[in-house]
Amino acid sequence: MSTQMHSVPLPSYADLQARIDAALALHSQFRVYTECGHHHEDDDPDVIEIDEIGLACGDGFMYLICANCCTGGSREWQTEACASEHKHDGSATCWPCPTRKALTSEESQ
Ligand SMILES: [Zn+2]
Ligand SMILES: [Zn+2]
Ligand SMILES: [Zn+2]
Repeated sequence: MSTQMHSVPLPSYADLQARIDAALALHSQFRVYTECGHHHEDDDPDVIEIDEIGLACGDGFMYLICANCCTGGSREWQTEACASEHKHDGSATCWPCPTRKALTSEESQ
């Protein structure tokens, strides 16, 4: 008989929750835009600047991807693989990503 097995304390619920929250914060949503077709000025409200495209408003919004999985961890731009290889019709796992799905009960819309 040994009591060794019980020497490692189980993590508390609060500890687990904090770890899940940290993972969810990492795997947050990242919005992908395309050209919206308007001419925007730098100081227009609600426009964002996109690499190689320029300024776009909400009309250019295309889909959500994971800010970690589909940006290669950059959290700033979409990876080439995501842009050209992932389907963005709801059948792929860009958002919610597999990590997020495993941690929550969220489904793709
Ligand atoms: Zn626009
Ligand atoms: Zn992810
Ligand atoms: Zn993707």
